[in-house]
Amino acid sequence: MAVMSQRVAGFGTSIFADINALAAKHGAVNLGQGAPDFDGPPEVLAAAVTAVNSALNQYAPGIGMASVRQAIAQHAQRFYSQQLNPDTDVLVTSGATEAMFAAILGLTDPGDEVIVFEPVYDTYVPNLIMAGVAPRYVPLRGDDWSFDADELAKAFNSRTKAIVINTPHNPTGKVFSRDELRTIAELCQKHNVVAITDEVYEHILYDDTSHVRLATLPGMAERTLTISSLGKTFSVTGWKIGWAMGPAALVYAVNQAHQFITYAVASPLQAAAAAALNMPFAFFENLQTTYQARRDRMLEVLRRAGFKVFKPQGSYFIMIDWRGVAPSKVQGDMQFARWLIEEIGVACIPASPFYQQADKHLGRYFARFAVCKKDETLNAAAERFARLVRT
Ligand code: PMP
Ligand code: GLN
Repeated sequence: MAVMSQRVAGFGTSIFADINALAAKHGAVNLGQGAPDFDGPPEVLAAAVTAVNSALNQYAPGIGMASVRQAIAQHAQRFYSQQLNPDTDVLVTSGATEAMFAAILGLTDPGDEVIVFEPVYDTYVPNLIMAGVAPRYVPLRGDDWSFDADELAKAFNSRTKAIVINTPHNPTGKVFSRDELRTIAELCQKHNVVAITDEVYEHILYDDTSHVRLATLPGMAERTLTISSLGKTFSVTGWKIGWAMGPAALVYAVNQAHQFITYAVASPLQAAAAAALNMPFAFFENLQTTYQARRDRMLEVLRRAGFKVFKPQGSYFIMIDWRGVAPSKVQGDMQFARWLIEEIGVACIPASPFYQQADKHLGRYFARFAVCKKDETLNAAAERFARLVRT
């Protein structure tokens, strides 16, 4: 009996699960999955405990608790001068992951096309396939992972319903510039296309890079759905509290899907999300300083080990090109990741899973390292990489 639906039959296992298992088996220092190995701010953790002990343990409203929707709208105002009505323009979801899937289900129809940039975060394309939507890929290339404006323009056609933009970008660490976002905005307006942005790394920025919110560009407020979440900024990736924001009509459509996927999101963690989002500026500044130190440290370690590094402008990640470091028996990024775990004792994520089948070769020399780790983890990785340093 064929038990698996056609819809999911082509999906492999998530690379994150595979690498975690291999890293555990070999006792490797795990710089693979983008999850901090330290805890979130004590006041945020305490807010969750208080909520559990204050009988906030039954279903929240499907669109999210009022206090959280207000905190999300205030955060958008505080950092981006974005005006959102917390009652109509904000929806609380089970992480950015559910927000993206609900957005695709709520805003597209089978047979539509959606544009994504490649390398592409691993959930978007399976989401599109489950929705019966065709992905159109626009490559990011070169040392700055830029796109070709003509190539992007050609990807738009009468079937294009939406474009997904992830900035700061996983896996490259690229932060889309205002000019790049302007180009995207013009094309969205010309072709009447919705933009869906994934901004989960909005506060992890390096070297004075600013994060530009596409929704704040002229003509974009009415056609942009912005997605973000608590996990990265507050080091609580396991909480899975996210949100989608934008014009009421778009948010309503997303909720039409969300109400029948998860219905409502964990109440006590939502309550804690409100506390987190209201943290003072000093928290966000300190977050950047701490991440800058981690990134600079790992850039140096990876460079000294002989890798070509792509200096990220944001996100948890550093992409490298491993050619010239691994022995010649290592033939591709999957083998490189395995070799690094088994022989050097450090885990990373190979890049080809972020490319579609026909383009896998484009990722074969790249691998991604996560820097969201304690000093002692980064020190342990540095010690192991020292084996690669030629004296
Ligand atoms: N989008 C991107 C680009 C991510 O890197 C991640 C998590 N690593 C997510 C979405 C998932 O976010 P959440 O845990 O809030 O679902
Ligand atoms: N988004 C995280 C990363 O890119 C992992 C999420 C997951 O494990 N699915 O590392």
